[in-house]
Amino acid sequence: MPLLFLGRNRVTSGFRLSDRPDHNGIDIVGDDSTDILCTINGTVRSSTIITNKNDPTWEWGNYVRVDDAQGRRHYFCHMASRSVRVGQKVKIGDKLGVMGNTGYSFGAHTHYEVRTADNKTKLNPAEFLGIENAKGTYTAKTGWEQDGSKWYYYSSGEMLKSRWFKDADGYWYYLGKNGAMLTGIQKIDGKLYMLNPKRAHDIPTGACIITDTSGAIE
Ligand SMILES: [Zn+2]
Repeated sequence: MPLLFLGRNRVTSGFRLSDRPDHNGIDIVGDDSTDILCTINGTVRSSTIITNKNDPTWEWGNYVRVDDAQGRRHYFCHMASRSVRVGQKVKIGDKLGVMGNTGYSFGAHTHYEVRTADNKTKLNPAEFLGIENAKGTYTAKTGWEQDGSKWYYYSSGEMLKSRWFKDADGYWYYLGKNGAMLTGIQKIDGKLYMLNPKRAHDIPTGACIITDTSGAIE
């Protein structure tokens, strides 16, 4: 499951814990990165700041609301800056904005709150992050992980699937529909590729080494 930040996510206040039973979200500080990443696939419904203090929403400062496929409302609050527009489609891992201290906030953090589509019930946001609803530091898994003979790649805790992926060394890999790295001769999107079947000549297993003339991978 995706976390809000790459690296360490420090939960400073949970959802309705006994010390703050009326806290309807989860407060998280990104210790290694301040980019707020989207936790669901959905559509941006708000990207704004309310400055009129007669409207209690002013407390959220700069905030973004993303509705998921079930219509649930995900709010990301107190941003220093916002990176998305209303109507924009966003995916897990997309940057929504930068962590900040706007609105009713005492120190940079993100208040993440989730509500049902009818806006009547507040849900436990920790469940959308795949973490416990408890103070502590949670780290999103990023990098390759081997399971049996197969390799998988995680980005901010999310396993990448059905896509090309370029690593830090500039090699391209293809991650199949189950997330496993493909090797050998593969037809992908109608084009043929040779994905290194075993580590040889310093080219990592799975790296794209040959393609046909119409399927060039940069
Ligand atoms: Zn909060």
